[in-house]
Amino acid sequence: MSERTIHLDADPRDWRCRKIRIRAYRWYARVELDRDGYVDSVSSRGDTADLPAAYADAVEKVQGAAVDRLWYDGYPGSFTWSNGSRWVTLPVPYTEVEAAVEALRGAELDHDYSGLAALASRLTLPVADWLSPGERELLRGVDFHSTPAVFLRFLRGKARSSGLRLNGRATAGSVWVRPTLPAAEKQLREMFPEQYPGWVDRWSGHADSGETRYRPWVGGRDQNLSQRAAPVQFRVPKLSLDHECRCGFRGQSGDDGRAHADHHATWALGVRVPKNLFWPGDLVVVTTQSPIAWRRLVYKVAGLPQRENHYDFRSWSHLGEPEETEDNVRAYLLKSNGHVVGYLTTHDTDHHRPWDLIDESPLGDADDTLRPRVDLIWVADNYRRQGVGAMLVQALADDFGSPVAEVSWSTPISQSGLQLARRLSPDGIWVS
Ligand SMILES: [Zn+2]
Repeated sequence: MSERTIHLDADPRDWRCRKIRIRAYRWYARVELDRDGYVDSVSSRGDTADLPAAYADAVEKVQGAAVDRLWYDGYPGSFTWSNGSRWVTLPVPYTEVEAAVEALRGAELDHDYSGLAALASRLTLPVADWLSPGERELLRGVDFHSTPAVFLRFLRGKARSSGLRLNGRATAGSVWVRPTLPAAEKQLREMFPEQYPGWVDRWSGHADSGETRYRPWVGGRDQNLSQRAAPVQFRVPKLSLDHECRCGFRGQSGDDGRAHADHHATWALGVRVPKNLFWPGDLVVVTTQSPIAWRRLVYKVAGLPQRENHYDFRSWSHLGEPEETEDNVRAYLLKSNGHVVGYLTTHDTDHHRPWDLIDESPLGDADDTLRPRVDLIWVADNYRRQGVGAMLVQALADDFGSPVAEVSWSTPISQSGLQLARRLSPDGIWVS
């Protein structure tokens, strides 16, 4: 088949001329009626160029049947086309190209939709029969024509979209099927009938007749263990488990909890260190002038306390060109087991006031000595209460060349930060 364009109006050079284009693809041909210029010229006269409802209906039926047919024939991909009145696209098997062209010509020029209807009915597959209840062997060449593996894959897709479990097995020349309706799917359809108009349960009450042939046993551990089993019972619990998790994740994420599970694991075990980072020893100081891979790692870690404590901003934002900061912004990262499990971010400042750590007691007089200020400390959940925070603050003080009591703490201090400060510096701290 050659690709070609067929003009439907008298003057093929006129931009308003409607045309049918045929394009060849590996698995199918695309027959497309181009009404773009025609729609513009009709609507510029104030008339409507919309497809009549019967026309649009007939097109939709062909599209639905054709898509199924091409999947059944083995096409593994998906289809795209634009809806509306400007283009009418039919993906069809090569044997139906001429019929599709004639059907579109008749619909467009004569308002005759019988060609489209005939095309749709030739393409339509007996999916409802294939998915009837009961154990059956569908024979290649009799019940279907594609290869058993392709046919089974197609049927599985159709079953899934109708909420059915297929219980299928392909043999060399046939496919065994036993479509059943899981109790949960039945319940869903009965609870929300408006979402499944016209749905009828053909499966639940089905009993195989005496003549049913059963598929030969080919082994497999599960199969026999569920025969004559009683279904599990579903209940609606009077308990809401929709609370916010300690990691900061709230509610349900609509992906069976996968996003939360990933986040939670990182929160508990730490951020995995990228393989391409050479990191000898376990403690590293990252500055705003460090290589970008290190600064990105700090940024990633900073996302965990942000989520856990609902901060508006991350405590690290230096992701551009390396640049010096006046106040020497830097971050300490502690590694354990290939993960970053401890994080302290800090900068130097000279605005401090002493505090004796007694609740309600006022701050002392301002002091302008340059000191490192702890902006934030975060420890992966599994590593808390093991001295990680104290170690990080001690490392900060050592690097600065001052006793740990000289470190300044940013206010307000969290409850866990206060405990840490009391342990490291029981006689009082600097706050800023
Ligand atoms: Zn969580």
